[in-house]
Amino acid sequence: MTGTVVKSTGSWYLVRTHAQGELYKCRLRGKFKNKGLKVSNPIAVGDEVKLEPEGEEKQGVITDITPRRNYIIRKSTHKAHHAHIVASNLDQAFLVVTLVSPRTSFGFIDRFLVTAEAYDIPATLLFNKLDLYDQEAQQYLEQVMQLYRNIGYPCYPCSAHTGQGIQEIQELLAGKVTLFTGHSGVGKSTLVNTLVPDLDIKTSEISAFSDKGVHTTTFAEMFEVGPNTFLIDTPGIKELGVVEMQREEISHYFPEMRARLNKCRFDNCIHVNEPGCAIQEAVKKGKIALPRYESYLSLLQNDDSHR
Ligand code: GDP
Ligand code: ZN
Repeated sequence: MTGTVVKSTGSWYLVRTHAQGELYKCRLRGKFKNKGLKVSNPIAVGDEVKLEPEGEEKQGVITDITPRRNYIIRKSTHKAHHAHIVASNLDQAFLVVTLVSPRTSFGFIDRFLVTAEAYDIPATLLFNKLDLYDQEAQQYLEQVMQLYRNIGYPCYPCSAHTGQGIQEIQELLAGKVTLFTGHSGVGKSTLVNTLVPDLDIKTSEISAFSDKGVHTTTFAEMFEVGPNTFLIDTPGIKELGVVEMQREEISHYFPEMRARLNKCRFDNCIHVNEPGCAIQEAVKKGKIALPRYESYLSLLQNDDSHR
């Protein structure tokens, strides 16, 4: 049989079979090697696997994995220099952000976008809590959305409370596998519950509480929310990331920089203070937005001061 991993606890995996859509509780048989990647979890949500029934009813073993089309990782919380595969075989990733209560920083948004670029996953920004925006905040929102749309990232304003923008986002989900992420408090759980009313996933108060253990690892979960439509929730996952990135590599994950890289005088330009740098020039002329360049610099220094 074949199926898709829809949930994982690290010791067992819930697999939804392709043929019947039945759920099997599985363990692993054998070693699953992840080429070129040190991972703390060999099998992740979204993986397409082979399974064999074994033991009690609706239990089985995973015996093989189909090569992943893509995947997204974060740093392992319990194994140094290891990655934790959050989810695989994604069609798109949605980041839920807010400009008020709490305000998501550009640094956070840009690190998510860089991660999505690095793994070739189309990214969309959802600006939640629209109902809280006064006129000034509304204008600021328009500017921020314009900034990201100019680079090519779709942006949608919405309110999980009033239902504004919800239908548009529902249409984006249809027929796809979509990962939802966002830092806590932005209303990701509320938004997911509004998008898919009968799902009823836990809101942050509960998941934050159960996440207090030092070595607790949180796992993503995949939900079938319509015909061929799947949503992956990432409760308690603070931030996705690239585990190790070369300095020269970073600018390739900023689309507005990528387009200009061949115009720098030096091949190994890292766009900080080199002469004849097309990126610095574009920032000066306002063709690359300053907050984006600042996010680039902070990634380059690998510091977290722009969070
Ligand atoms: P999560 O941590 O991102 O999953 O956030 P929750 O879904 O738990 O929501 C955090 C808080 O934001 C809760 O008090 C929600 O009621 C509130 N919230 C979520 N969406 C909205 C919204 O669209 N508008 C307003 N005003 N509050 C919201
Ligand atoms: Zn340069």
